[in-house]
Amino acid sequence: MAEPRLFTGQYKLSMIAVAITLGFIAGISLPISRSVKPEVAPPVNWLNRQQNPDSNISKVTGLIGQQNQTYKKMVAELAAEEARRLNFSVPVQFQGKTIEHVKLKDDSKTIALTFDDGPWSSATPQILDILKENNIKATFFLVGKHVQRYPQITKQIVTEGHAIGNHSWSHQYHQYSTAAADRELNNTAALVHKLTGVKTTLFRPPAGILNNGLVAYAHQQKYAAIMWSADSKDWSIRSTEKGLIDNVLTAVKPGGIVLLHDGGGNRSKTVQALPKLISELKKRGYQFVTVPELLEMEEK
Ligand SMILES: [Zn+2]
Repeated sequence: MAEPRLFTGQYKLSMIAVAITLGFIAGISLPISRSVKPEVAPPVNWLNRQQNPDSNISKVTGLIGQQNQTYKKMVAELAAEEARRLNFSVPVQFQGKTIEHVKLKDDSKTIALTFDDGPWSSATPQILDILKENNIKATFFLVGKHVQRYPQITKQIVTEGHAIGNHSWSHQYHQYSTAAADRELNNTAALVHKLTGVKTTLFRPPAGILNNGLVAYAHQQKYAAIMWSADSKDWSIRSTEKGLIDNVLTAVKPGGIVLLHDGGGNRSKTVQALPKLISELKKRGYQFVTVPELLEMEEK
């Protein structure tokens, strides 16, 4: 019985030694394997399945490849769309022209809402929210000195997908020399571009004045002067909320451009009237686009 006991004792000792050795090796090799991470050869059947074009793995790999192509194509299209949006150039037939509305081939009920004199502290964000709720993109004709005052709102207008036009730097009504007109347009354009990346060649003259040197200079620079076919008269202190809605509904027509204001004074009437106005225009079957989109529709 001594031998088996001894054997058992030796066996136990040797097993303990093996366990210690294995533990020691594991203790060393585990951190090493964690840091080195050697490549583990895939099982043979995995390799075979990968090489077989009819295997599910191959099919999935193919689908992923197709999806990657589709994804890349979508990203490229979105990038091109964004570049067009940021660098919209007026179609040739409108360059150096003054436009009040656009003649659409099929007289489709499409109009452009435009907002002047912003950005403005309270009205512009409120109007942006109303437009977002209604899934409408509009065009904002910005005053340079207001852009300087409200750079974040300017950026918000662009990031929310709206178009930008130039509405001069100082919004004055006097006569301009060429040099002064150059400053009015180009200082505004440069600041808008610096803040948003947008280059615009749409110009709306302050108060719609066509003969004080600004429009002449804008035309010379291949801008299109964008007027309007439906004036809400929201700029008039005598206009009521209902009155400005009626003003638009009376004058609205396919290819029309609607004049509203988001800045330059208290625009609470415009903000209050806008949801109702949009709802009435939708009831009449109108769709809404930006001025660049409207110009491109006529181009087509
Ligand atoms: Zn104005």
